[in-house]
Parts: sequence; structure tokens; C-alpha cells
Amino acid sequence: MKRFVFLILFFITLNGYTQIQTPKSIEKEVITTLEFYPELQDVNIEIKFKKNIKKSTMQAQPKFNSFFKSKKNREYVIFISEKFKISDKNFSTKDIPSKILVGWLGHEFGHIMDYQQRSNMNMIGFGIKYLFSDNYIIEAERTADTYAVAHGMESYILKTKNFILNNSEITPSYKQRIKKYYLSPEEIMDMVNQRDDDMSESASTQH
Ligand SMILES: [Zn+2]
Repeated sequence: MKRFVFLILFFITLNGYTQIQTPKSIEKEVITTLEFYPELQDVNIEIKFKKNIKKSTMQAQPKFNSFFKSKKNREYVIFISEKFKISDKNFSTKDIPSKILVGWLGHEFGHIMDYQQRSNMNMIGFGIKYLFSDNYIIEAERTADTYAVAHGMESYILKTKNFILNNSEITPSYKQRIKKYYLSPEEIMDMVNQRDDDMSESASTQH
């Protein structure tokens, strides 16, 4: 009986996200991440492995053909580098612990939440500014982290950050990059406290 209930639940979970395509090997992590983002349930997202991505491990972007469609029908792709390459060291993405992968995906889904608010013209401007302005990259990356925290993913995001920042095999230059462009663990904790305060305030006004 228990197993039967479990099977039904599993089916419902997968069924809710019919617009999501993902490689089987990370399906579990993708489902865990999506549970934090019910708004993305009907959004068309394809998750794909790619041989190599310059400077990053994952990358979320609208599909090119989306620019000829209305914002409502926009489709996204998240590329995941097969090799988690940091300077001269090579890690395989498959060897990254499950929770770290969920934290990473949570950040990428944060980018998609951000893109969902933007018009096609705004997305083009975003792409150009992202290419040429360091400050703009900082803003975009911090926005993605902020969405993830607002959706309750802080423990995963913190694990992913600590995995990088406390890993002796990862080069100082990559750690520096993470510190420069993303939210720090302290800022995330401040955000969590603020979020929880806001929630308890709105709960008390409902009484
Ligand atoms: Zn990012």
C-alpha cells in the first residue's frame, strides 16, 4: 500500500512539470529544485549537458527562437558543463554531491524567474550588458541568488557556496570570482532573517 501511494505521488510530481526536459542522471535534483519554484511549473525549460562552458558550471538562457515568440511562450535552456572545470583542475559534474547540485540548480532557476519578468527587448539589452559590464553581471548573479533565497532555498545555496569557498582543491581565483559576483553567506543569512521577520509580521496582522 505504502509503495502504491509513493508511486502515485511520484507520478503526480513528474506530471506537474510536463514542460521540463532533463537528463535522467539529474532528474531527482531537478524535481527537488522545482518544488521550491511552483511558478515555473508551466514554463518550458530544457536542461542539457554541454562539453564545456567558459568560466561557469551552469548557464540559464532563453532559447534563440523565443525572441520570435511572445514572452508568454518563451522557452529556456539550462546548460550544465559535463566537466566542472576550475582553472587547471577537472571535476566531473556527476561527482558533485546531490545537495550541492540542487543549490546550483536553485541559482539557475532564480535566473529564469528574473528572465520571466523581462520583455524580449529587455532580454536583448540584458544579454548585451551582461557581456560588457562587470557591475551588471554582479547585479544579475545576486538577483538569481536572491530569488533562490526568497523561495526558501537558502540551506542549499549556502551548501553550494561553502562547497566552493572551503574546497582546498578549488583555486583562489575561482573563489574570488564567487565572492565578487554572488551573495556572501552573511548576506544570505541577513536576507533569511529579513524574510522570516516579514512573514511573521504578515502572519500576525492576519490574526
Ligand atoms: Zn548565475
